[in-house]
Amino acid sequence: MNTALWTVQVLWGVFFSVTGFGKILVFKAANAGKQAVAVPPAYTSQRCSGCGAGVAKGLSVRWHACPDCGASLLRDHNAALNILRAGQARQGVGALAPAMN
Ligand SMILES: [Zn+2]
Repeated sequence: MNTALWTVQVLWGVFFSVTGFGKILVFKAANAGKQAVAVPPAYTSQRCSGCGAGVAKGLSVRWHACPDCGASLLRDHNAALNILRAGQARQGVGALAPAMN
């Protein structure tokens, strides 16, 4: 893992714990009958949600276009799908709900 990415992860972890944002998120999720699951953020925007290939892009690139599988969607949508899958994997859930695809 490169130093910049590691630094971002550490700072995010500090923000999450110091601000109490993580506790608020867990509390709000529980009130909605849901569960908040923390996942490592590394490469969630660089990995294709369709096939898992690495697709490098700068922060200014807002669209994810995978040359391997042809997936084409907003960068944040792609990252959200990767984050959802990572959370589900941590919970032992095998696949995305159809409405999430
Ligand atoms: Zn792909």
